[in-house]
This record gives sequence, C-alpha cells and structure tokens, in this order.
Amino acid sequence: MSAPVKIVDASEVPASYDGQGFQVTSLDKAVGLARANSLWPLPFATSCCGIEFMGTMGSNYDLARFGSERISFSPRQADLLLVAGTIAKKMAPILRQVYEQMAEPKWVMSIGACASSGGIFDTYSVLQGIDRIIPVDVYVPGCPPRPEQIIDGLIRVQELSKTKESLRRRDSEEYKIMLNSYGIE
Ligand code: SF4
Repeated sequence: MSAPVKIVDASEVPASYDGQGFQVTSLDKAVGLARANSLWPLPFATSCCGIEFMGTMGSNYDLARFGSERISFSPRQADLLLVAGTIAKKMAPILRQVYEQMAEPKWVMSIGACASSGGIFDTYSVLQGIDRIIPVDVYVPGCPPRPEQIIDGLIRVQELSKTKESLRRRDSEEYKIMLNSYGIE
C-alpha cells in the first residue's frame, strides 16, 4: 500500500488581498498556517501503539512531509503531545506533568484504544482514558491504529490549529474553565 501524499494545494494559502509585489492577509490566518505546518510532537509512547508511531515516522509514511519531523522529548519544545499506548495509573501524574510543562498553544492526540479508553485493559491499574487527567483534542481509534490513521489525526490537529480555533482561544474564559475542570491553572 502506498503512503498518503501530503496535500499542498491552493486551499492552504490563506485568503488574501494581492497586488503587484505584495500580499495582505490577516495575522491569525498567517500564524495558523505556520503553526499547522510546524507541529513539533512529543511522543508519550508506552506500548504497541508507539511502534505504529515509529512506523509513521519512517521513510514510507514520513511524517516530515507535514512539517513534524522534529520530534521533541522536551515538553518545553513541543506543541503536540502524542499519547500512544497503555497508560498505567502510576504513569498518570507523569503524563499530566509533561502536559503542564508544555507551553501554549498545545494540542493533544490520543492514539489508540488504550490511550483513549483503557482499551482491553479494564483493570484496577490502567487509566481508563487520558481524558480523565488532561484535555484531548483528537482521538485516533484502533488497536493499533495504522500509520494512515495517525496521519489523519495529525491532519485534524492541523485543521484545528489552522482554521478551527481562534488564535486567542487559549486566553478565552471557555478555555480557562475547561482547564479548571481538570484542576489545571
Ligand atoms: S490500543 Fe492495542 S495496539 Fe495500542 S497500546 Fe493498546 S493494546 Fe497495544
């Protein structure tokens, strides 16, 4: 199966007023476009779904085509938290700490059934979904999801960062209330 090809077409270019030698557009569209094409992922990978993420980074699927080849293991230099794998309850405070250390704006993708709901591990020791401790922007279903699905999730995060949320959403009351509901300041 051939890997999906990154779509770079005219629809990615923000609406603008053009003239000879100049182009004018709104700041949020320009910033949104830059953010969407330079997402820096932090993989919080604990088990099999993490292997699928490795496949997504490999030459066949090549996440670099989406501007996301720069994997970060420092929360302060990442803006996309990719949670892939089973999260034991003992790991939950660590995951939350990593999330809190990431600067705004940041997005969270839950990859696979385990991260999203505990998956088949309905046990006392496994967190039944990371949205119990941190807010999630995009869920990728599957056990495991294929790299195409992970790429689809990334494209959805790109859409969020590019067009679907205001630059100032992170300063909004609604956002603060949502974080407060998680006990995050
Ligand atoms: S969802 Fe399936 S493949 Fe992914 S970590 Fe859980 S058991 Fe493994």
